[in-house]
Formats: sequence, C-alpha cells, structure tokens
Amino acid sequence: MSMTTLDSLLADTIKDLYSAENQLVKALPKMAKAATNPDLRAGFEEHLEQTKTHVERLEQVCQEIGATPKGKKCVAMEGLIEEGKELMEEDADPDVLDAGLIAAAQKVEHYEIAAYGTARTWAEQLGYQEAADLLQTTLDEEVQTDKKLTELAMSAVNEDASGESEDEADREDTDEDEEDDAEEQDAQEEESDVGKSSRRR
Ligand code: FE
Ligand code: FE
Repeated sequence: MSMTTLDSLLADTIKDLYSAENQLVKALPKMAKAATNPDLRAGFEEHLEQTKTHVERLEQVCQEIGATPKGKKCVAMEGLIEEGKELMEEDADPDVLDAGLIAAAQKVEHYEIAAYGTARTWAEQLGYQEAADLLQTTLDEEVQTDKKLTELAMSAVNEDASGESEDEADREDTDEDEEDDAEEQDAQEEESDVGKSSRRR
C-alpha cells in the first residue's frame, strides 16, 4: 500500500483495528472462561458482545471511506493476546490470575482507545463525519470498559489476590467482641484460634 495521503493512513488504521477486534472476538471467551470472579467473567462476556458490534461498525466505516476491512494483521494485538495466553498457562492462584487478567484486558483497552481516538480525529479532518461518529461510539465503549476494569481491580479482585481480606474480617469480628466486657474471654480465645493475624496492632 502506498501511504502518501492521510486517507490511506486512515484506511490502514481501520484495517488494523478490524484485525484487532476480530482477534478479540476469539480471545475474550477464553479470558471469560479463565476468570474466577463472577463480575469479571460477566464483564468479559459483556465486552465480547460489544466487540462483535465494534467489528460491524468498522465495516460501516469502511463503506464510508471507500476501503476494504480485510487484508492486515494487527501484530500489536497479537502480542497483547499472546501475553494474556502466557498468563493463563501459568499455575496461578485463581485470585492472582484474575488480577493478571484485568491487567491484560486493560492493556488491550488502552491500545484500542489510542487507535480509535486517532482514527476518529483523522476521519473528522478528512470530512468523514459519519465514520467519525461511529468510531467515537466505539471509543466511548472502550473507555467505559477500561473504567469498569479499574473498578473491579480496586474492589474485590486485587483484595482477594492480596490474601488479606479474611484476616481483616477476623479482625473486625474480634473488635466487636472486645466491645463487650462479658465476652472478652471469648474474644481472646477466638484470637488465639485464628492466630497472630487477627490481633490488633
Ligand atoms: Fe473493541
Ligand atoms: Fe475493547
């Protein structure tokens, strides 16, 4: 392909994204299957459906800019997916694997966010307003997905992976017991049962 115009660069970028999205349609079910946290699994499944729509939007974009979607392989996405695959092959603790899956998925989203933002701007500059709107719609969904992944990471998943959540729960129980003098003895016994980690510091 001769890359002498912004038009040809836009077409090339759309082809690249088309390949990236199609690779993700294949990868996301595997990531959903590997996830343990039910919210994370549901999130991957939901984004799979969105990703299928992203593929369709790119076909519509191609119609407007007069390009064909096929004919290029996104090697960047191939690499990102390969890294995710390596992670899934590790003998990881389920919670740790979930944390790693979120990280892998966020790298994918950030790649898409960068590429869609650029493509949207070029489409606008070249006067393809309908294409620009389609690209913006997908971009918004990628940003939302990235936010949801951050929320998941900040809430349950990383906490589970750090292995501290059970200790914290024990500590809270012990605090409540200690508020009642009559149950002081019980609380101490409980402390010694659960070990050092439940003691107040
Ligand atoms: Fe996408
Ligand atoms: Fe995405």
